[in-house]
Amino acid sequence: MKQETKCIQAGYEPKNGEPRMIPIIQSTTFKYDTSEDMGKLFDLEVSGYFYTRLQNPTNDMVAAKICALEGGTAAMLTSSGQAATFYAIFNLAGAGDHVVASSTIYGGSFNLFNVTMRRMGIEFTFVDPDCSDEELEAAFRPNTKAVFGETIANPALIVFDIERFAKAAHAHGVPLIIDNTFATPINCQPFKWGADIVTHSTTKYMDGHDATVGGCIVDSGNFDWAAHADKFPGLTTPDESYHGITYVERFGKEGAFITKATAQLMRDLGAIPSPMNAYLLNLGLESLAVRMQRHCENAQKCAEFLEASDKVAWVNFPGLPGNKYYERAQKYMPNGTCGVISFGIKGGRPAAEKFMKKLQVAIIATHVADAHTCVLHPASSTHRQMTDEELAAAGVPADLVRLSVGIENVDDIIDDLRQALAD
Ligand SMILES: *Cc1c(COP(=O)(O)O)cnc(C)c1O
Repeated sequence: MKQETKCIQAGYEPKNGEPRMIPIIQSTTFKYDTSEDMGKLFDLEVSGYFYTRLQNPTNDMVAAKICALEGGTAAMLTSSGQAATFYAIFNLAGAGDHVVASSTIYGGSFNLFNVTMRRMGIEFTFVDPDCSDEELEAAFRPNTKAVFGETIANPALIVFDIERFAKAAHAHGVPLIIDNTFATPINCQPFKWGADIVTHSTTKYMDGHDATVGGCIVDSGNFDWAAHADKFPGLTTPDESYHGITYVERFGKEGAFITKATAQLMRDLGAIPSPMNAYLLNLGLESLAVRMQRHCENAQKCAEFLEASDKVAWVNFPGLPGNKYYERAQKYMPNGTCGVISFGIKGGRPAAEKFMKKLQVAIIATHVADAHTCVLHPASSTHRQMTDEELAAAGVPADLVRLSVGIENVDDIIDDLRQALAD
């Protein structure tokens, strides 16, 4: 099946007389005839459902669709993108371990790593995604357990060289984890370029309608944990909290990572989405391919309009031929990147504030990557406590406007930008 067809059909095949849509199994528990039957589930001897904190059929069907879209072997939904990022790392690294991460990842991921996970005893080295080979090499330590990057960084719009980082990770016997939120599997499938695990904030394009917060983790099934058994004892030695199961032996490299994350992290931490939210996410997934195409077309036209405007100082969009990441975007995402653009307005902070006030079609929101065109001026909202000098040092200059182009008629969006930029 092609991606467009998987968006509609993957993950759930109704049998004779069954509902066409994924059923919402809004039940915390599942009934069994004997305690022995249930005991087999607890021992992971047979697969099935017993309590929704660990697994729910609706959630699993939606995860299976995302798994098919990414070309993976196993997947799980989480209650947020943050939970997906946390689980993906914590499933491999604990106190005393180390992770190499791109320095330009989403701010929420950066804070999770640099503050919260450091407090758990995990060390992080942040590397510039365009660093030299020597710098990348120097980032690895004997206790490094994973490398983490973002296909298209939110909000810096830096395109990550997945193939290069996958090679470096594998040379050190560790997997590459890619946050594929902005590209989605419609525009980029990181597994094709050597990534081992993919995470998503499904809150963004996958849901696509501002309806549900959620996340997903997908395993490519390619990473050979057993070949690096000393680095990943959690996967390659018996789990005493699960009756001595060794995940790699029982579930193979195709299933070990997700089974462990479900059995241990969902069991103990419980960041599970509600089945109702998974159902809503599935509605978004059904139109993901057509929406992404429209997001990219609209963003391309908006970026070209902004670049040609004499009111605009600079435009950052990887789909523009002059962009620093244009060539790399063509390699990894030949059909388009995403709908997010950042640009600077001539006249700095006051001009940007005036522009924001005049917008009518584009709404002001701290969200990105959904059907509605929305804008954010960090200097007067999320970063308003900072001076212009501090903003420039943080890479968020006072004139920066982040525009998330929606799927409205592009002429309406451009007309709105034009009138808001006019004197
Ligand atoms: C929003 C976002 C996240 C966090 O996801 P939530 O669903 O908000 O928890 C992670 N990564 C990227 C790239 C994001 O844009």
